[in-house]
Amino acid sequence: MLPRVLRNLVGTSSMNYSIPRALVIAFGLGLASGNGAWAQSAAAPGAAGAAYQEMPAIAPIGVRVDRYLPLPHPAAVPPVDPAKGYRLQQLGGGLYMVTDNGYQSMFLVYDKGVVVVDAPPSYSAHLKQAIAEVTDRPITHLIYSHAHIDHIGGAADLGGHPIIIAQEETGRLLARSNDPKRPLPTVTFKDRYTLKVGSQVLELSYHGVAHEPGNIFIWAPAQKVLMVVDVVFPGWMAWSGFADAQDIPGYFEQVAEIDRIPFETLVGGHVDRVGTHADVREQLAFMNDVKSATRTALQTTPVGVGMDAADKANPWAVADNYIDRVVVKCVNTVTPKWQSRLAAYDVFIWSQCFAMQQSLRID
Ligand SMILES: [Zn+2]
Repeated sequence: MLPRVLRNLVGTSSMNYSIPRALVIAFGLGLASGNGAWAQSAAAPGAAGAAYQEMPAIAPIGVRVDRYLPLPHPAAVPPVDPAKGYRLQQLGGGLYMVTDNGYQSMFLVYDKGVVVVDAPPSYSAHLKQAIAEVTDRPITHLIYSHAHIDHIGGAADLGGHPIIIAQEETGRLLARSNDPKRPLPTVTFKDRYTLKVGSQVLELSYHGVAHEPGNIFIWAPAQKVLMVVDVVFPGWMAWSGFADAQDIPGYFEQVAEIDRIPFETLVGGHVDRVGTHADVREQLAFMNDVKSATRTALQTTPVGVGMDAADKANPWAVADNYIDRVVVKCVNTVTPKWQSRLAAYDVFIWSQCFAMQQSLRID
């Protein structure tokens, strides 16, 4: 039967189990009706009960994994010298990537100095050493890709007083954080900023909220290198929740936007290598598969199946049960095609499907 509050809300006293419009609207629930058998469980209230039908083999969030899926391309990664803690990769034309095979940043050498883009704290203590392998010129500029501490929290390790450039939203967020490890930008911009130093150029542009407000595209036109952090993960599953995207529709648009830029090398800020257009298209294809699987699941999953009768008076529980079964369907639909194509697929597929249903219901 309907929760009493909702029964009153929709002005019906029907004893038949049906989903009130208010609940449909509140949770964006699918309208298919359920007639599955109620699962009887001896579990204590609130404890895990019997598994959902067709529960995926991939462990959901909160369940320990004995052994993760093997990585599909373990041999392709250039190693990091443990004594140095980083490796340097030439991107051409005086532009270099520094990475510890988990994080990525860049620096650009020009006739009088060096422009650094991001300073991940995981190796920022060695950034000056990495630059010194190439040049003894001083760091004159520092660009923040975005405000997150895991990408710029090593800024103070660079020393000196470089000109710090960021999008104005990044400036706002950093002012709020008031973190001495992330000094405030000295120059902010809204839409575009072109940094010309000697004969070198970096074009910074803002394409709206996807991962985080203020997250920018950094384009080196001469080198045909594009750096966009925390959006595309070449060869890998994105970090959970589409890389913690604050705006998932914006995130989908931004991945497509990245593909339209004529780069030859993409620096994504994470994982063990740079990316190509093929990597961007692969990720977009995966994302669209998750979206389509989730949309179908939202439309075809009956509400309330297998629930204890008493729990049907609890709209949060009804929604939780429905969303769980939508996510189960999404994982089952996407897994056969993608589990061997994206490294660490199993680690975050539940999170991607969960984030997708949330976005499709309410965005
Ligand atoms: Zn981030």
